[in-house]
Parts: sequence; structure tokens; C-alpha cells
Amino acid sequence: MADSTNPTLRALSTFASATPSVHYVTPSSPDFDQLRAIYAHPELTPLAILRPTTESALASTISFLARNKIDFTLRAGGHDMHGRSTKPNTVAIDLRLLNKVQVNPTTSTATIAGGALIRDVITTLQPAGYITPIGSIASVGYVGWAMYGGYGTYSSRFGLGVDQIVAARVVTATGEIVIADADSEPELLKAIRGGGGAFGVIAEVTVKIYKLDRILAGILVFDSSNLPGVIHKFEDGYRALGKDGRGLPVALGLHQVVLNFPTPTFGVLVMWADEDIETGEKWVDRICDLGPVVSRNVTQTTPLAWLEEQSKLVAQSTQGRMWTVNLRRITDEVAGVIGEFASRFPADPHVLFDLHELRAVSPSAASGAGVGKDSVFNAREPHLVVEICPTVSDAGKLESALAWGQEFCDALKATDKANILDASYVSFLAEDEFDLQSVYGENLGFLREVKGRVDPGNVFRNAISYL
Ligand SMILES: Cc1cc2nc3c(=O)[nH]c(=O)nc-3n(C[C@H](O)[C@H](O)[C@H](O)COP(=O)(O)OP(=O)(O)OC[C@H]3O[C@@H](n4cnc5c(N)ncnc54)[C@H](O)[C@@H]3O)c2cc1C
Repeated sequence: MADSTNPTLRALSTFASATPSVHYVTPSSPDFDQLRAIYAHPELTPLAILRPTTESALASTISFLARNKIDFTLRAGGHDMHGRSTKPNTVAIDLRLLNKVQVNPTTSTATIAGGALIRDVITTLQPAGYITPIGSIASVGYVGWAMYGGYGTYSSRFGLGVDQIVAARVVTATGEIVIADADSEPELLKAIRGGGGAFGVIAEVTVKIYKLDRILAGILVFDSSNLPGVIHKFEDGYRALGKDGRGLPVALGLHQVVLNFPTPTFGVLVMWADEDIETGEKWVDRICDLGPVVSRNVTQTTPLAWLEEQSKLVAQSTQGRMWTVNLRRITDEVAGVIGEFASRFPADPHVLFDLHELRAVSPSAASGAGVGKDSVFNAREPHLVVEICPTVSDAGKLESALAWGQEFCDALKATDKANILDASYVSFLAEDEFDLQSVYGENLGFLREVKGRVDPGNVFRNAISYL
């Protein structure tokens, strides 16, 4: 039922009545609270929610909102840590009913609809015996993950998410559906790869897929009674073992974490993306040798089972934010800062610290000829993405957790400048932390040109902006 005093709600109600392929959800709908929920910002409530069920319904929705100058956000998995998918008094377009995933074995690609979650992708790929790189949590939106970078443990072998995208279907501000691929609109395709959703709604991406249906994966829990000590020892040994990332096999993916388990504990999620499980076991032994491991729960498994297992490590929803910095390596100085802040870890089960990696051996790292030239994703040097998440279950602990997170990030930024990459990960940055020139470098002008051509009225103003 429309609020008769609000002209936007009246207009939405009229549009929805005439467009049954779009579900209209208002604050008085019984499922509003469940559908509006996003990962980290329970306080954010949209004006109403529109849920298109087909690509053409999505196109009609965009053209209606743009014509009527109604501000909107787009949401898929709702995992943006800075609340970019929901704004107060703004219509939220929920893409999750557009979640079809289709495998195309003849071209070794899959088409993935704009609202598909990482879980949807692997649920379809695995029975066909394929994988594509993914992040660690099943409920994250695939397109949101991939188009801004897409880090994960499969990236050493297969590359980052952003480099898997070979084509996209984009609903532009006028409600037109544009195909961006190597032949048609290659500039738009390049801009989406790293530049994301500022040009339109990505209704579908086509991505590369790879044969792989079994992996070795699990969690190594390190004795954390002396947390700074165990972190130092691990980082020291890891640098030496990996020869700064060049000595480790491509199949090996590592994700270092500190979690309250229930007290602050250092762990490593290991994943061996190759069917030669025996060799994988030997590499897991070597990683175990980097510290006193108190629990080794690493087994042969499937990508889907491992995805679900990792997803249990984080809350379904929380409150807080994230800080980030990209580092070339974990030097002794950096390990000292991590150790210090790990030992002052806020006492809430949702607080999280972790490190994603782009290793030198990855097809996405700059060592390959021409790597990254067809994208605007700039962080191509081998690096580690520091993710500091002062997220809490108890709102009473939020302020002190945020103070810890800010201080932690400042301390990392005060370490040797030569070890800090200019480009940071846009998905993890807050609006007021953007230094567009550093993030996009020489591609910034190109991004602005494409934005000016494809969305001159800045209809997609709530996406990460380049203006
Ligand atoms: C618990 C957690 C785990 C994470 N794990 C990883 C990880 O392993 N690796 C990694 O690289 N990142 C990771 N991230 C970051 C995550 O990938 C990004 O925040 C991503 O953008 C989230 O996408 P979403 O659809 O879930 O979020 P949403 O909040 O729904 O969307 C994020 C942004 O993308 C836009 N968007 C989403 N879909 C579309 C579309 N189809 N068309 C146009 N715009 C769109 C939205 O408008 C919004 O601005 C993680 C984040 C969290 C909170």
C-alpha cells in the first residue's frame, strides 16, 4: 500500500501495479526487514525495495527511475562494508532474483546473472566439474566481488575475479541493454573490469571457467598463546619459504586470519587447487612447519563444501566497518604492528583481521606480458591486502572497536612507505578515503571519459564514483 503523502512512493506503486515482473516491497510489507538487511549496516533502511524478476523488468525499472529522477541504489549480496548498496530515503533495487548461472563447456565460460551470489555460482559450476575464482564467503554477490578486483585463494592459479570477465550485459541509464565484449563496446568492458557499477547495472557477466572438481582445503590453527610471537615466526618463515611469493606453487592459496576463537587466534585457511592431492599434502606440511599448529583440519573436499565451511567463520550480519591498506610484503616492522594489534584484539566474536594475497605467480600479477592492460584494476604488483574489520555483535563495543581499527590502520600506514602500494582495494575503502588518482592511476581519465559517455546524467551516482 502506497503512502499517499509521499509522491515517490505513489509513483513507485503505480509503476509496480503496471509491472508485475517487478516485486514491490514497502516498509509495511511483512518481508521488508528481512529483504532490506545488509551485512554490516543494520541502521540503513531504504525507502522501498524493487525486485525485478527478469532482465527486461530490470531495464524498465532503471528507465522508470531515471525518467522520474528517483534516486536508487543497487544491492546484490549486500556485503559492501561502507553501506553503498542501501541509502536512507532511497529506493533499493534488489538484484537477487536475477541469479541464473549457466555453464558453456564449448567456450569454457559461464554466464552469471547480476544478482547471483558466490554460492549460486559454485552450486552450478561444481556438478559440471568446473571452478572459477571466488572469494571466501558464499553470501557475497559474485558481480560485486569480481568487478572491483575479486581476491581469493584460487587467484594464484587462475587469477583475480576481475580478469575472468570476458563480456557483460549492461542496463544503462536509459534502460537500454548494451553488450560489452571484445568486439562491441570494448572500452565499457575495460571500465567495468575494476571500475564496477558506475556505468549501469551489470545484468550478466560471462566469465572464464576451469576444470577442477576436487581440492585439498581446511584450516590450520596456530598456538596463539604468544600471538605477536607466532605471527612473527609465521611471516618470517613464509617469506623465506615462498621467496617472496615466487617459490610457492600456483595451486597453493593461503588466507591468513586472526579471529576470536574464542580468544584471539592466528589461523591460516589453506587451499590446494589441483587434483594432485599428494603434492598438496606436502605443501600443507611445510605451512604447518611455520609455527606450532594446534589443529590441522585439512582434507580432500569440493569447492562448494569448502566455501560453506569458510562461510561459517563469519557472522551472517554484523555492525561496523573496514579499514584496508595494500602492502608489498609482511616485513618484520609490519609483523610487529600486526602482532601488537592482534594482542589488543577487541573482545567480540565478530572482530576480524585477515590478509588476501596477489602472488607473483598469479596470471593477474604484473610479471605476465600485457597483464591488466584490458582492465582499470591497477594493483598488479604482488601484494597483500590487509583487511581490518572492527565489526561487533554487541553495539556497546562498537566505539572502542572502531578506535582500535583506525589506530591499527594508521600504524600500518606509518610503516616503511616503500612497502605500501599506491593502489588500495576500492571495495574496502570508505568514500572519504578515496584517492582516485592512486587507485586508478593513468586509467582515471579513461574512466571519466567512459562515464561521461555512458552515464552523462550520473544516474548511477551511488556506485563508487570517479567524478
Ligand atoms: C564478509 C565479507 C567477505 C568478503 N570476502 C571477500 C573476498 O574474499 N575477496 C574480495 O575480493 N572481497 C571480499 N569482500 C568484499 C566484497 O567482495 C565487496 O564488498 C563486494 O562489492 C560485495 O558485493 P555484494 O553484491 O555482496 O554487495 P552489495 O553491497 O550488494 O554491492 C556492492 C556494490 O556493488 C554494486 N553492485 C553489486 N552488484 C551489481 C551489479 N550487478 N551491477 C552493478 N552494480 C552492482 C552495488 O551497487 C554496490 O555499490 C568481502 C566482504 C565481506 C563483508
